[in-house]
Parts: sequence; structure tokens; C-alpha cells
Amino acid sequence: MLLANYHTHTKRCGHATGEDEDYVLEAIGHGFKHLGFSDHAMLPGFSEPYKRGDYTLFSDYVDSINNLKQKYDGRITIYLGFEAESYPCYFPFYKELLTNSVLDYMILGNHSAMSEDHKVYAHFSNITSPSQLYLYKDLAIKAISTGMFSIFAHPDYFMSSIANFDSDCKKVSKAIIEACIAYDVPLEVNVAGIRHGERQIGNNRRFLYPTDEFFKLVSKYRAKCIIGMDAHAPDQLMNESAVYTAVRFCKKHDLNVIDILDKIKRRR
Ligand SMILES: [Zn+2]
Ligand SMILES: [Zn+2]
Repeated sequence: MLLANYHTHTKRCGHATGEDEDYVLEAIGHGFKHLGFSDHAMLPGFSEPYKRGDYTLFSDYVDSINNLKQKYDGRITIYLGFEAESYPCYFPFYKELLTNSVLDYMILGNHSAMSEDHKVYAHFSNITSPSQLYLYKDLAIKAISTGMFSIFAHPDYFMSSIANFDSDCKKVSKAIIEACIAYDVPLEVNVAGIRHGERQIGNNRRFLYPTDEFFKLVSKYRAKCIIGMDAHAPDQLMNESAVYTAVRFCKKHDLNVIDILDKIKRRR
């Protein structure tokens, strides 16, 4: 039985459904002890409709989750967080939210790269050159080594468009795993990738992520892993067949899976 999920979205991002409270009730119904909300970061001065909520929704997000923390106190521990990109121009904003205890935690979702003037200039779901692959690695490590992130969500996201796990992929993976170990950041086995089903990528039919080759290395290093639902609807907190596949994936690779994040402290 799973005890916690720290990767939960809300309808504010524009591509998730359900009320915040429905996620809480669903989690309680499945016996979860912890529920972490980690909606796509709402960022001042940057708008990305249908990918993340507008910054004007941020205070409603904070208030709503904090109310639920109180309402369900004693039944489930609720955490308030963000899934945030490695956008260095926003690191001071992230830092402020964590140090002022507005957020309890953050998870890293390394989907894209942003320039200092807030322009997204690379999408890591569609890596087409080694330089983009190495950019993925550099940004991931930059974020991990700030110490601000508690989980690296879908760390093998770079494999979404790469047909063969070649020597560059291996190098990048090793560097990422080493950084996660050094900063005690568990690597997520992402259930959304499983829910979305297998795709034909080159000669292989597989999930975009999690991928066998990456997690073979994770296993070899004995790095910590965690299962994350990446729920975009309340009933995705426990999609039994996808979770069964995720658990089997962890067993197959003999992963060092943790079920509770002991490092986050609940605030307010
Ligand atoms: Zn999403
Ligand atoms: Zn997510």
C-alpha cells in the first residue's frame, strides 16, 4: 500500500480537473498519510496558458490548500508545494517562498529552459541534439544543487524523444543521479508516464518515462526513488493498474524506493 503522494496538480494549471478538496478526499479514501500539492509553478511576470496557472491564481492556491490542511488535520497531512522548472531567473522567487514558509516544498520538473529575459528557448520533451541533452543535465544539476528541491520528477524526461539510450544519455544520467545522491533528492518513478501508455519511439515500444535504461543506472547507484502519481484529476491519485505497473517496474529494477519524504516540514 502506498502511504503518500507528493506530485499532485490542481485545476489552476489549465489541464487538470477536480476541486482541491476532492483530491484530499480521494487520498484519505486510499489510506494516504501524506498528500502534497505540487501544482505547476505560478510565476510572476510569466504566463503560459494551459501549462501553468497564471500568477493571479497563486494566492487562491495558497489559501485553498492551507484551509484544507486545517480542515483535515489529524486525518491526513497536507503539504503545499510547486512543481517548478530549473529557471535560474526564478530561483530567488522560489527561495523566498521556501524561506518565508509560503511553500512547504518544491519538486523539480525540468521541462524546458528559460533565458534571463523570460523566454523559453528549449523544450526537453523534444530533444534533437546532444547540446540540448547536456543543457537538460546542466539545468537539472543547477536546480538540485540549490538544495531547494525535494524530489526530481520524471528525471528521465529527456528520453521522451530519444530513441536510443546512447553514451551521451548514459553520461547525463550518471551525472544527474550523482547529484541527486549528493543532495539527497529522490528520483521519481512517474506514474503519469505509465498512465499515458506505451509509444513507438524508434524501434522500441515503451513509455516516454520511466525508462528501463535510466532506472537500471539508478538501481546500480542505489539512489533513492519515490513513486509520484503526477495526478491531474482526483481519481489519478490511485489508478490501480498504472500503480501496479509502477510497483512492478520498481521491483524489476530492484529500486531503493522510499514512501515518505521525511525532510519536509509542514508549515502553518
Ligand atoms: Zn501538468
Ligand atoms: Zn507534474
